[in-house]
Amino acid sequence: MARSLLPSVQIPVCLYQVGSLIVDSGPSNARRFLRKQTWTPAPRAVLLTHFHEDHSGNAAFFHRQFQSALYGHPFTATKLKTGFRLLPYEKIMFGGAEPAPLVHLHHGDSFEYEGRLFEVLETPGHAEGHLCFYVPQEGWLFSGDMYVAERIKIWRRSENLALQIESLEMLSRLSFDALWCGHNPQPKGGPELLKKKLEYFRWFYGLAAEAFRKGLSEKEAIRFMGLRERHLVKLLTFNDVSVAHMVRSVYETERKRAALRPSSGL
Ligand SMILES: [Zn+2]
Repeated sequence: MARSLLPSVQIPVCLYQVGSLIVDSGPSNARRFLRKQTWTPAPRAVLLTHFHEDHSGNAAFFHRQFQSALYGHPFTATKLKTGFRLLPYEKIMFGGAEPAPLVHLHHGDSFEYEGRLFEVLETPGHAEGHLCFYVPQEGWLFSGDMYVAERIKIWRRSENLALQIESLEMLSRLSFDALWCGHNPQPKGGPELLKKKLEYFRWFYGLAAEAFRKGLSEKEAIRFMGLRERHLVKLLTFNDVSVAHMVRSVYETERKRAALRPSSGL
């Protein structure tokens, strides 16, 4: 549903319809596509996994068009209350998110909707207030951006690897089959895919933490880990997306952990 910064590359963005319930709303750049769809039954409720514009961009549209009730984490609600500023690359790729009123959902909430029980799980790390929606009786997990791919090699400045590892540990213990990802739907084998991503993240964290203990700079760490900076991506996103941010996320966590550790000899 969205274009990338390179005209030849399309970035898929998914929204899901379950009866009159919609999970995520797609980017506002895809509004024309949404208008052409026959929405049967009419969406009565929209759940948002997180505030990012490719997931929340049409929340206001559903609210206006169908009077759909909108639901999300309080942090998502705060972001959407006024709308939020985007970097140029985000605007080109996805379009903005208009202000929209959200009803709050919290970790541990559950609700029945058209005969299915939905459980709300807070899974921070990719974005503050990120939620997943678990439907045990169907074996579904609506996972927003918790999966996307097994190996994520670039990273937004605001992401936190240690938190994502904790969130993935929680999700990979659930019993389900279909991983309804916001960019890469996987109808089967969801927990195994999340475990593979978890293994990769643990490998990345371990090696970056080793580089930190060796006193390497972030640049040296990238080389030490056998990675390569994506200079074009970094440039096009005004340094919002890069390999260095992923390493930095580990460095920041390790710095905090080192400060909390009692010094030896005491
Ligand atoms: Zn996102």
